[in-house]
Amino acid sequence: MKLEGQRFGRLVVQAPAGSKDTYRWWQCRCDCGGLAVVRSRSLRTGRTRSCGCLRRESVARARTFRRERSHYIPSPCALADLMRGRLTP
Ligand SMILES: [Zn+2]
Repeated sequence: MKLEGQRFGRLVVQAPAGSKDTYRWWQCRCDCGGLAVVRSRSLRTGRTRSCGCLRRESVARARTFRRERSHYIPSPCALADLMRGRLTP
């Protein structure tokens, strides 16, 4: 199967990177500018869709989300006070 020039997520396949462990490997260029060598099966199944930056970003997003949650969601006590109309700013 010819994969050169094909896009998988953020990766565009550039050139074959040889075979190893009975798998075919491909050199890919990522949208972020990074390079990745990916197994063809990982590309076809959608397992690998970036040089790793996608994973890094989603981890960063998850951290931001947790921080926002702990910041914006009031504690049960504060919520109870709010419902009783006793919350003073
Ligand atoms: Zn990348």
